[in-house]
Amino acid sequence: MTTDNNDVQVNFDTFGFKKDIAKGVREAGFRMPSPIQEQAIPIVMKGSDVIARAQTGTGKTAAFGLPSMNNIKGGRGVEILIIAPTRELASQVSEEMFRLGRYAGVKTVAVYGGQSISRQVEMIQRGANVVTATPGRLLDHLRSKRFRNFAPSVVVLDEADEMLDMGFLEDIEAIFKFLPEERQTLLFSATMPPAIRKLANKILKTPVSIDVTPKEVTTNVDIAQHYYVIEEREREEAMVRLIDTESPGKSIVFCRTKREADNLSTVLVSRGYSARALHGDMEQRQRNETIASFKKGQSDMLVATDVAARGLDITDVTHVFNYHIPFNPESYIHRIGRTGRAGKKGVAITLVTPLEFKELSRIMKVSGAPIKYREVPSIHEVKQNYMDDLFARLKDRDFDDEILDMVQGLSGEMDVTSLACKALSLLLDDQKVAGPNRIGFSSGAVEKMMHRFKSQYGGRKQYGGQKRYGGNKRPGGGGYGKGGYRGRGGSGGRRK
Ligand code: AMP
Repeated sequence: MTTDNNDVQVNFDTFGFKKDIAKGVREAGFRMPSPIQEQAIPIVMKGSDVIARAQTGTGKTAAFGLPSMNNIKGGRGVEILIIAPTRELASQVSEEMFRLGRYAGVKTVAVYGGQSISRQVEMIQRGANVVTATPGRLLDHLRSKRFRNFAPSVVVLDEADEMLDMGFLEDIEAIFKFLPEERQTLLFSATMPPAIRKLANKILKTPVSIDVTPKEVTTNVDIAQHYYVIEEREREEAMVRLIDTESPGKSIVFCRTKREADNLSTVLVSRGYSARALHGDMEQRQRNETIASFKKGQSDMLVATDVAARGLDITDVTHVFNYHIPFNPESYIHRIGRTGRAGKKGVAITLVTPLEFKELSRIMKVSGAPIKYREVPSIHEVKQNYMDDLFARLKDRDFDDEILDMVQGLSGEMDVTSLACKALSLLLDDQKVAGPNRIGFSSGAVEKMMHRFKSQYGGRKQYGGQKRYGGNKRPGGGGYGKGGYRGRGGSGGRRK
């Protein structure tokens, strides 16, 4: 557990899971709990009934799965029953439960129509602890008394509103007649229409209510939101390139960890930017001083962790950079809300690798944020933008008589074209753009990857399952297309 700004930051250690469950969490790559997990896990672990409003993609499977698997006694037949509306969701939830519970020896079975009945029964009798089922097939099994000693101590209704929309209310009510009175019941639903409340009154006992629907919506039209697709190793270069291109005024760069914030600020300073780290390992006095110098404009960039930047109210932040995409949509909303304040325009930039498309889609889906793709500009494009900007300024520029005299004096030594070319070249020399010419994936490559991602995770079974997006290679041989990027033509580079 860490503290920043006196706020308590919850991590998975806080919950006190058994060793084998904690290993499943680690192996799944989960670092920080999502809001629904933060709220639901302790309550479910205590054994209370829960009614939770949470959308797909918020991490709700682990929110009910981890604490209920942690409470499993073992060797008592089916202990957890999860009822889900569709085959896809049932198999996806079952796979996630397996992934998280495998080290604790949890055996999972998915039960749905279209599969051999005898095989399902056999798998369950062989000692499954967790059964994830669709309502129709489950009721069929129960009515035919195919399961011996079926008495789950935890029953989860997942996507309850969806099940009611699909006409499963009667089936669900019938299923509950077969379940033991003495049980813990958890109801998860994206919406809470009256029919769900009525069902909840029937099947839940003094439930705790949880609601993680994002309060703010990211429809602030003053914030332009963009994402850039890069490879993991390109993060630093992409960051530098985007700073050079965007020429932010004041900006906040969000990192996932304190160490990352420290490292990145050191890199940025060594490359000539006036950046300072802000995180919870710093003393309060040091943090106050960092924030004060940022407010006064003595430093241009804060490289911060989420918690340290919580509540920062600075009106003239022009850019927010997500050096790493945050896991949960609320964190994204909170971060980008540091810009575009008090009617001013702002830009929110997010770096993602193809392995982070899941997080990106979840943020877009849950928060409704209109985040648009852009290609990282090449060195050539940055210079071209600089020149376009320079020419626009040249056209309107008056000049002094003194300069005219100098140019006339020089015209004896070289012709006017050479003079203009040399003068502009000198200006461009000062306009150093660091890194390789091209950074990140081209728009064509991103389009293909997104298409592949959507066909794997698309539809309502989105973002779950075991399949992982495997492509960290450049499809199509790594060709970079044109287009996508249209910079602001800023002066480029804020190196001091
Ligand atoms: P769900 O809402 O349960 O369908 O989860 C959506 C996706 O988020 C799944 O692929 C999970 O594996 C993943 N996930 C859930 N919790 C976390 C977490 N705390 N950190 C990272 N990924 C998570």
